[in-house]
Amino acid sequence: MRTRSRLTRLRQIMAAEGITALWVRQEENRRYLSGFTGDSGQLLITPAACYLLTDGRFTEQARQEAPDFQVVDLGNNPWEQLGATLAAAGITRLHFEAEHLTYATYTEFLEQARDWLRPVELAPSRGLVERLRQVKDDAELELLQRAIDLADAGFSHLLRHLRPGITEKDLALELEYFLGKEGASGPSFTTIIAAGPRAALPHGVASRHPLQPGDLVVMDFGAVYGGYHSDLTRTVALAPVAPEWRQVYNVVLEAQGRAIAALRSGMEGRQVDAVAREHIAAAGYGPYFSHSLGHGVGLAIHEGPTLSSRSEVKLTPGMVVTVEPGIYLPGRGGIRIEDVVLVLEDGARVLSHAPRDFIEL
Ligand code: ZN
Ligand code: ZN
Repeated sequence: MRTRSRLTRLRQIMAAEGITALWVRQEENRRYLSGFTGDSGQLLITPAACYLLTDGRFTEQARQEAPDFQVVDLGNNPWEQLGATLAAAGITRLHFEAEHLTYATYTEFLEQARDWLRPVELAPSRGLVERLRQVKDDAELELLQRAIDLADAGFSHLLRHLRPGITEKDLALELEYFLGKEGASGPSFTTIIAAGPRAALPHGVASRHPLQPGDLVVMDFGAVYGGYHSDLTRTVALAPVAPEWRQVYNVVLEAQGRAIAALRSGMEGRQVDAVAREHIAAAGYGPYFSHSLGHGVGLAIHEGPTLSSRSEVKLTPGMVVTVEPGIYLPGRGGIRIEDVVLVLEDGARVLSHAPRDFIEL
C-alpha cells in the first residue's frame, strides 16, 4: 500500500525530530498520508498507531480509502472524542501543523483539554509532511503524468479555437469543458488567458477581451487528475506579429532550455533560477522577468521546492517542478513558456509534451 511507505518515511522524520505524536489537519497532507479524499477529517500519527477522525458523513468512505488508519467517528462531541482518542493512544505531547492550525482551533484545543483526564501539551511543527510531498513516489508520478497529458491535449484543443474575435473568456470555457470531458476533475487553477497588452500581466485571468490580429496570447492552465495538478503555459501569436516578439520568444525559450539542461539532483533552487535569469538579463530583458522560475507541483498547484533567487532547497531525484521563465513588456505584451519537469540523479525529464516552438496563427 502506498500510504504505508509514506507513513514509514514520516515516522523516520518524527523520530529524528523527537516528535512522538503528530496531528495532521491540512487537506493535502491528510490525503497524502491516508489516501482519504473527503473534505473533513484529522489524523493522529504516533510511532505505533494512526487514527483518522472524521464525522458520520465520511466514516464509510474513510474506511475504504484509508485502510492503514483506524477510523474514529467524531460523533456529537468531537472534542471529547478527540480527547478520548489521544488518551487511548497515550499521547501527552502533540505536535500540530504550525502553518495550518488556526488560532481559533488552537485556543479551543487548550480550552477543551482542561476537561480531559490526561493533560495534553501542544507543540508546533513546520513543514513535516510538505517535505515528504516534495519527492514523488511512483503512484504520484503516474497521476501527475495523467494530469500533464490532459493539459497537453488541452493545448492542442486551444490551437483549434484560437482566432481573432474569440474572447479570452470563451477560450478558457472551451478549454475547461474539453478538459472535463477528457477526464479532469477540474481546472488546476483559474485559467489564465491574456492577449495583447494584457499578456504583460503575468497572471491575467481570462477576460471579455476579444483576440486581435497581432496579439500574443499567454495561456496558463492545468487539469486535476486523481488529486494531482498539471501546470502548462504556452504563448502563441496571431499574425501579423511584430518581429521583435519572435526574438523575445527565443530568449524565453532558450532561458527555459538552459535551465532544464542544467537541472539535476544536488542543485539548489536558486542555482536553477539563476541559469534562466542570467540568460534573460544578458539579452537585455532582466527587469522584465518579474517572478521566480518555478515551483513544485503535486497535490497542490504550488508546493515545494521553489525555484527562486532565494531558494536554498537542494533538489533530489523525484522532485517535480515547473520551469517557467517569462518576459513582460508593460503596455505591450508578454511571453511565458512553462513545463513540468522531473528531477533525476543526473539530469531532468520534461513531462509535458506540448510543442514549444514559436507558433504564429
Ligand atoms: Zn502555470
Ligand atoms: Zn506554474
